[in-house]
Amino acid sequence: MYKIGITGGIGSGKTTVCKVFEVLGIPVFYADTEAKNIMVQDEILIAGIEETFGKNSYFDDGKLNNKHIAGIVFNSEAELAKLNALVHPAVFRAFDRWEESIDPNVPYTLKEAALLFESGSYKMCDTTILVTAPLEVKLARVMQRDQVSVEQVKARMDKQWSDEEKAKLANHFVINDETHSIIEQVLSLHHYFLNTAAGVQI
Ligand code: ATP
Repeated sequence: MYKIGITGGIGSGKTTVCKVFEVLGIPVFYADTEAKNIMVQDEILIAGIEETFGKNSYFDDGKLNNKHIAGIVFNSEAELAKLNALVHPAVFRAFDRWEESIDPNVPYTLKEAALLFESGSYKMCDTTILVTAPLEVKLARVMQRDQVSVEQVKARMDKQWSDEEKAKLANHFVINDETHSIIEQVLSLHHYFLNTAAGVQI
């Protein structure tokens, strides 16, 4: 099945863009949401997390001890890399299971991931989309959505590559600022992907 990876910085609006594709009937795998689910469901992953970060990574009722994990990984690149090395392969396994459950007649699927490029998972996609927005727009959106301070949003942004870095690897772009229509851009990409996925040269 033709696979398209979609990413963008925090607050760029990648989930919003994906919702427009969903309206067009395109199935979307939300890797970041799935990562949260499998951290409490995937036995192999849970065992790996407990082994690496200690048994108190989980509460007795099976819920993830977010505070414990965040305390370890937030200020340590090395510990964050260990967590990613456990979670990313588990997300790939979940994606494979998800893809098997998809109607084979759909023209293509989307995989939305904040760290599509950073994790290397873009290599498993046929093509990629980068959603962009100006910094001040992204900051305002996330502060409003998550009720957090500008410093908190910037700290989260610092953990991701810049748009310039991501743009070097991206094949397609959606500009989600206050002047461009995302619906028009998604329709245009959808038309292009329908033809490309069908093997038509346009
Ligand atoms: P994150 O990486 O934090 O999950 P994201 O890139 O998926 O962010 P969204 O959640 O889609 O971004 O958008 C962030 C916020 O901005 C949401 O509250 C969303 O409703 C709003 N938003 C996104 N695009 C637009 C737009 N074009 N016009 C108005 N609001 C928008």
